[in-house]
Amino acid sequence: EINLSNLAASAIADLGTLLTSRHFQVELEAEDEEAMIQSDSMLLRMLIDNLLDNAVKYSPDGGRLLLSVVQAGANWRLSICDEGPGIAPEHRQAVFQQFHRLDMDQQGTGLGLAIVAGIADRLSIAIELGTSPWGKGLRVDLTIPLRATGGVEH
Ligand code: ATP
Ligand code: MG
Repeated sequence: EINLSNLAASAIADLGTLLTSRHFQVELEAEDEEAMIQSDSMLLRMLIDNLLDNAVKYSPDGGRLLLSVVQAGANWRLSICDEGPGIAPEHRQAVFQQFHRLDMDQQGTGLGLAIVAGIADRLSIAIELGTSPWGKGLRVDLTIPLRATGGVEH
């Protein structure tokens, strides 16, 4: 069993000094501190790490980063919101393909979201891209079943 709030908190903590040096305002909202799930914690961390990497990379210094964990029926909803340029609706499917990149000002191989999609598929996690609550920036909603099917429990 994994505590999703703790997993999110340690993913943030492991970004270390990058967050303070770029003056990000990070917030973790957990409705239930005991958000327990049965899943592959290593794969789930890899998924979250890739999303956080993007949120940080494509956001301006001093931007807000919000992670929230709420229950949604038989699932947990983990949302990651940033204040970067966001992704326009017409690109929201294509960015999950390997090597598909939109922002050529930043370095990247275009593999992060393909990895995210592969892990999500394995763990029966649904992903939806939207606009962050501040009207700009990306919002990524992960719908995570309380008990995942694929992967290995660590
Ligand atoms: P890599 O993750 O392999 O280092 P990458 O970040 O370019 O490279 P992906 O993570 O797959 O690749 O993202 C694909 C593209 O989607 C990015 O190039 C960027 O244009 C866009 N994108 C991803 N996340 C965000 C975000 N949080 N805000 C704005 N654009 C984003
Ligand atoms: Mg990336």
